[in-house]
Amino acid sequence: MNPDTGRNQLQNEGVQLKMPQGTSERKRRITGVVIAIHSQKFTIRSDRDYTMALPGRFKKGPRQLTTPFVVGDRLELILDENVPTLSKLFDRKNEISRVGSLRPPIKQIIAANVDAVICVVSVAEPPFNSRLLDRLLLFSEVAGVTGSICVNKWDLVGAADASPLIPHEPLGYRVIRTSALLGDGIEELRSVLRNRISLLVGPSGVGKSTLLNRLVPEAGLRTLPISPSTGRGVHTTTRVDWLDLPTGGVVLDTPGLRHIRPWGLEPLNLAHYFPEFRDLIRDCQFRDCRHRSEPGCAVIRAIRSGIPELAGRYDSYCRIFASLERDELW
Ligand code: GDP
Ligand code: ZN
Repeated sequence: MNPDTGRNQLQNEGVQLKMPQGTSERKRRITGVVIAIHSQKFTIRSDRDYTMALPGRFKKGPRQLTTPFVVGDRLELILDENVPTLSKLFDRKNEISRVGSLRPPIKQIIAANVDAVICVVSVAEPPFNSRLLDRLLLFSEVAGVTGSICVNKWDLVGAADASPLIPHEPLGYRVIRTSALLGDGIEELRSVLRNRISLLVGPSGVGKSTLLNRLVPEAGLRTLPISPSTGRGVHTTTRVDWLDLPTGGVVLDTPGLRHIRPWGLEPLNLAHYFPEFRDLIRDCQFRDCRHRSEPGCAVIRAIRSGIPELAGRYDSYCRIFASLERDELW
């Protein structure tokens, strides 16, 4: 089911409360942001945190597959003697969504209204994986938000087999080199995270938890009672932890995010999400060029001209293209 449908129903079917004219002063409207989704409840942060039951119509049947809103959504509440009622969902400025693991695939929205996506990888243990990073960066590209790269375990760079050169840096992606172990680069990371909501994505083992413990000293205690939805909804709910940084900004952590295929990627639009190809493809001979073996392809021409950064990215492009054609889950 398309979660957007749920949103529309919520707004159209009268869950939207209208405050009568001259309402008594005990009622007031407030706006807030969803910071946690539990199995049957959600928490909104406003002047304080309110935990409320999810609207009943979303708990049963196919709607159990998704919730009508996700972490980062903005809502309006009406407080009647401090008892909150949901009155409005605001439009999203963006959403980060992926292909869920159910068949047929459903769109699974991870978070809404983020300002940036930070892809966390490591230079070693596990080794730097450019091809994986190319996939992670698609989250920011598809959503149209800034994508940055945090390469952790930089203290191991001397021993690493992988080249410490990050091919994405010349392409315009900001790269922050950190050692969560030693504290190097943490100040720079803090400054990148300040004054915005950043979604952190990355494979396990790269040191994301260790980084978060540096950024939020009490993160080891981050026991927001968030759990995946129970029952049939379990495969379709993504855990997202909202973490306020003491130095300003919010990090949305995605522990255990295994499937990372962004929703909305098609073989034919893939090249648009490789910023360095975007300018080239206008010069392709055919408008529906797939940039693989077509004559007059400007991308292939640029690759042949020997720009080393492009070759690896193009390799990723071809692999992702093939896996989209096969409709693989990744
Ligand atoms: P996560 O799965 O991404 O949350 O990774 P963890 O934070 O659990 O870290 C995985 C392992 O890497 C642990 O043994 C950490 O001690 C280690 N680790 C994390 N950050 C660094 C770092 O900057 N340098 C080194 N050498 N090890 C690190
Ligand atoms: Zn082409």
